[in-house]
Amino acid sequence: MTKLRFFNTFSASVEDFIPIETGKVKMYVCGITPYDKSHLGHARCYVVFDSIRRFLEYSGYEVDYIQNFTDIDDKIIQKAHSTNSTPLDISNKYIEDFLLNCKNLNIKPAKIYPKVTEHISEIIETIKTLVSKGFAYESDGDVYFSVKKFTNYGKLSKRNIEELIVGARVASGEKKHDPLDFALWKNSKPEEPFWESPWGKGRPGWHIECSSMSMHEINRETLDIHGGGQDLIFPHHENEIAQSEASTGKPFAKYWIHNGFVTINKEKMSKSLGNFFALDDIFAKFDPMVVRLFLLSQHYRTPLDFSDSKLYQSKNTWDRIKGAKQIAETLINILSESNINEKNKNYADMLSTNFSDCLNNDFNTSEAFAVIHNIANTLYSFEQDKSNEINRKTVEYYLSKLIETCNVLGLVFPDNQTNLQLQDLVTQREIARKNKDFKKADSIRKEIDLLGYTVEDTPHGPRTKHK
Ligand SMILES: [Zn+2]
Repeated sequence: MTKLRFFNTFSASVEDFIPIETGKVKMYVCGITPYDKSHLGHARCYVVFDSIRRFLEYSGYEVDYIQNFTDIDDKIIQKAHSTNSTPLDISNKYIEDFLLNCKNLNIKPAKIYPKVTEHISEIIETIKTLVSKGFAYESDGDVYFSVKKFTNYGKLSKRNIEELIVGARVASGEKKHDPLDFALWKNSKPEEPFWESPWGKGRPGWHIECSSMSMHEINRETLDIHGGGQDLIFPHHENEIAQSEASTGKPFAKYWIHNGFVTINKEKMSKSLGNFFALDDIFAKFDPMVVRLFLLSQHYRTPLDFSDSKLYQSKNTWDRIKGAKQIAETLINILSESNINEKNKNYADMLSTNFSDCLNNDFNTSEAFAVIHNIANTLYSFEQDKSNEINRKTVEYYLSKLIETCNVLGLVFPDNQTNLQLQDLVTQREIARKNKDFKKADSIRKEIDLLGYTVEDTPHGPRTKHK
């Protein structure tokens, strides 16, 4: 098996993965600002990082996965004002919506979801350190980070200070000394939520929360992996690096991973462009597992163009994989018990290794799906096999590989309630047929029909099929 290698935005190259502490991975992914319903763009980011986490765990790493909620922000305050609500009610409502969608998409919960409003004192401490080290300054109740004091600003996004100066402007209401500087602490306006600080009543800027909370939660200065969408590279992640490294003097993250956008007609899907699809609406039409499969169907760094027809393609793929599982379960009931032969075992093991190799190669989920297809196709071929080489152990072995590989990508098979009923009826029908009670066999066939399945008799016995 190959070693894990993936693209590090920081070095702009594919690197071997060597975590700071052997066998352990500390991973932080920027979370949402909960002020509206979660959409497909969010789903891609968190499904991608969940799959990366799952693969790391599958490869034997212990992963601490941390993801924040920006639960105080201009957009949340605006929404609270326009809906006659409080910022906390707004953020709680959309955090709940987000977590429910994550559950539907089978995204594993984070170890911890730090919220800004619960970490104000740590954030103030980080800002105080930056002020005392001369990297930040107070200006009339605001505190700004002095970008020019931090050498190598722009090292993640590969931008240089000269280029940035050209486009920099001071927005009205800002009290910074240099247009490049960014806010660490904002003086609160009337009717805005505030916290007491050494600089008066106010609240944190956006970037500082991730620096402060991630270091606090992992209890270390350097993360193994920092992730997020490509749109966060500049300025958010660039500013996180500046703040964290200025305060600790240590690298902030060893590896930076960024996922590509979801696009519609090649344009980025986003709330601000108004071309987004809320997950609720998509789940009303498609099984969340189909959506998950669609989101992983292309390499995580490439743009993923959304359309209904692509979701229908993913539905067909998922149906075929589920069909392979069903065939396996039917065969297991029918076939006799004997040992798996060497050739079949070796082939299954080779597929399993190929699967890991695909993911070790910069988390290539689209190639990993090709391997899952191969396992599924093998199960389909067993159904037609007349060589007597296929026995129960063989089918069980391939089925376990199918479930295991799907599981690494977070695809879970539907509740087996109907399947169990179906299996039972198929077995009863076989008994009736063996006893030559064809009337009974026929009436059981009708019951199977009512469950939405047809039953066919193959060389290995009966096979059920979704109508
Ligand atoms: Zn962040």
